[in-house]
Amino acid sequence: MSEVDHDVIVIGAGPAGATAAARLTAAGRDVLVVERSHFPRFSIGESLLPQCMIHLEEACLLDAVMAADYQPKNGAAFTRNGEETAIDFREKYTPGWGTTFQVERADFDQRLIEGARDQGAKVEFGVTVTAFRPDERCPQVDLVDESGDVRTLTARFVLDASGYGRVLARLENLERDARQDPRTALFTHVEACPVEPGHDREKILIGVHPEDPGIWYWLIPFRNQRASVGMVGQTDRIHAHGATPAARWQALIDAEPRFRQLLNGARPTRPVGELCGYSADVTQLHGPGYALLGNAGEFLDPVFSSGVTIALRSASLAAPLVERQLAGGDTDWHAEFEAPLREGVETFRAFVDAWYDGRLQTIIFHADAPSDIKARISAILAGYAWDRSNPFASASRRHIDTLAAICEMRTAASNHSGTDDPDTDLPAESRS
Ligand SMILES: Cc1cc2nc3c(=O)[nH]c(=O)nc-3n(C[C@H](O)[C@H](O)[C@H](O)COP(=O)(O)OP(=O)(O)OC[C@H]3O[C@@H](n4cnc5c(N)ncnc54)[C@H](O)[C@@H]3O)c2cc1C
Repeated sequence: MSEVDHDVIVIGAGPAGATAAARLTAAGRDVLVVERSHFPRFSIGESLLPQCMIHLEEACLLDAVMAADYQPKNGAAFTRNGEETAIDFREKYTPGWGTTFQVERADFDQRLIEGARDQGAKVEFGVTVTAFRPDERCPQVDLVDESGDVRTLTARFVLDASGYGRVLARLENLERDARQDPRTALFTHVEACPVEPGHDREKILIGVHPEDPGIWYWLIPFRNQRASVGMVGQTDRIHAHGATPAARWQALIDAEPRFRQLLNGARPTRPVGELCGYSADVTQLHGPGYALLGNAGEFLDPVFSSGVTIALRSASLAAPLVERQLAGGDTDWHAEFEAPLREGVETFRAFVDAWYDGRLQTIIFHADAPSDIKARISAILAGYAWDRSNPFASASRRHIDTLAAICEMRTAASNHSGTDDPDTDLPAESRS
């Protein structure tokens, strides 16, 4: 072996980077994480999915998360024009965790990277990766620290977990169209969010704008009457609601009755942030001596809170492959990493597309979906998008199409006759 500075360099100390670093360090590897900011630092993306718990457990990071006493989460509640419905993750089809947490990311991300450090990972903050030279055996990164000092480090493998920094996507010209309409998100944290008897704080609340179903809202309760509150929609439609991010955020809250009621008296604790065109994708998730994790590779949309789940999943798939490659074994990064990761991402994509074109809203707000079909949808929304035994994972678009069409027919029939049409049954294949 040629001399290298580290076995593995990880770019970025967010959830993907910390999880990969913890797993590789536990396998006995010398891992350096380089992070351009200083923790704790704010990050959006606070509502986890139960699938995350499996990956945190695999990386021996779950105890650190449990110790934080975060707000528990067991599902998602939805509100639209006064209609209310909910999905309980504990009633899901796929076995495994049915609960998780809603976390303030500044604290959560710090706990994960401290957990990786406790397991032996080296971490440098205030260090930015500026250049990269791929190589099957000895990739190199250039780093600059806050005093302007530049270094080159070598490794046997580099994992890019730089999130929205998208370091290797840019440096290796991997970026491609994300296949999502460009949308804008407005977000902030609030305090003094009153505890309402009818409001289940163990669920993320997703609302739909009363006049524009393309705009949706989230309310993610934390402990201590704090919450993350934001909304997403096409940029021009969001911008039509005010001259500044804060004005838009307030006008949109005022427009939705349930959010207006729940946030009455709540105070923002930080300036309203605005993120335009957040979706991203790359042509490939791996190359000579490197792989892309989490948002550094691909990001779809926040509507089903899949971002951290995909980030952790990517780290959990990549870490054993890096380990095997460093031990001299054969690896097929496409077949063992990219293809299986993207399978679940495509399931989420089908759900995201169906949310925005209205089919999923039709399904979710349909009053009497049978419990077995609800359980299969609940499993996907709980993050079990890689369970191919679930028809809503293995053939998502077909099953969503069929189910939405039947829900529409049943709604039309009940509007017409006052009862559901008994001949319009839900598809057996969606249950098989
Ligand atoms: C509006 C909105 C709402 C969201 N809500 C949710 C949600 O409720 N639940 C959910 O699961 N996901 C949500 N997400 C997605 C979530 O934010 C991300 O998917 C998640 O943070 C990705 O984790 P990561 O580890 O890949 O990257 P990050 O968490 O972004 O971490 C990347 C790290 O890399 C560092 N870095 C960047 N460039 C460099 C460089 N050049 N050198 C060194 N370090 C660098 C950064 O400082 C950062 O700390 C949301 C996203 C948006 C836009």
